[in-house]
Amino acid sequence: KLENELFEAVKHNHFKLFYQIQVNHLQQPIGAEALIRWLHPQKGIITPVEFIPYAEESGLILAIGSWVIETACQQLKQWQTHPATKALTISINVSSKQFRQPEFIDQVIDTINKYDINPSRLKMELTESLLLDDIGNTIVQMHALGKLGIQFSLDDFGTGYSSLQYLKKLPLYQLKIDRSFVGDLITDKSDQSIVKTIISMAESLGFSVIAEGVETIEQQQFLQREGCLHYQGYLFGKPVPIKEFEQLVNDIQAQNQSKTAGLKLNNSA
Ligand code: C2E
Ligand code: MG
Ligand code: MG
Repeated sequence: KLENELFEAVKHNHFKLFYQIQVNHLQQPIGAEALIRWLHPQKGIITPVEFIPYAEESGLILAIGSWVIETACQQLKQWQTHPATKALTISINVSSKQFRQPEFIDQVIDTINKYDINPSRLKMELTESLLLDDIGNTIVQMHALGKLGIQFSLDDFGTGYSSLQYLKKLPLYQLKIDRSFVGDLITDKSDQSIVKTIISMAESLGFSVIAEGVETIEQQQFLQREGCLHYQGYLFGKPVPIKEFEQLVNDIQAQNQSKTAGLKLNNSA
């Protein structure tokens, strides 16, 4: 039943992208992760964990995935014209079936050209299982997209079977520490060791690192002390519709500006 409904949803475009802010250690916005929501006419908002598996199984993920790329590029186009948003990146989640599609690269190129966006503002989040599905092909695809300027983040890092052998061969930009290691970070010694290991591994392999699921200031401070300078989580903002996201970015930037103005005043006093 859900699959039939999903088919209808694709046909009538009942989806919406929510945006969750990503910030650096100075609390400056650096971008957003685009997270899809299904706006069901009767059931309301359905989260991706509930429908992505069906979308994958039925193949509808291909249509949904193209819509996500299209919508994200359209958004980047708009952001490019405003000083407050033009440096922000959008990270999209790419599923394995979508990534394996022979037309995938052409589709990405066409969309980038259509909206005339800077490809380095578009990030793709891939999972460990996607990478290992067909590692040879993955490397070829990643290099082709990387050449365009697209950056890759390895999502849910540490929860799958990462082969360190392959990790060093992949043109990755970033490792994303899974939120399952962040939740109990302050009290759980093993989570602390895992997180420290991921951070130092990222550093030595030359990757950037971002933590997801950051909900408390203590977690953020722990991560910062260990060298992780990028964060995403409820502490900074939940996934929200675009207008709310832009309002949040404006508010933070206004706050940061008044802080800097205050500092300047103090210094000159
Ligand atoms: P993900 O890519 O790992 O996304 C992070 C999930 O963590 C999101 O759930 C987000 O709402 C949630 N989250 C963020 N910060 C916090 C926090 O501080 N605390 C807690 N407890 N949770 C937090 P969401 O939006 O339900 O997405 C679930 C998954 O669905 C995503 O996991 C991603 O794998 C998949 N997904 C989302 N959008 C798309 C899409 O457009 N295409 C594909 N293929 N998959 C998608
Ligand atoms: Mg993700
Ligand atoms: Mg994740």
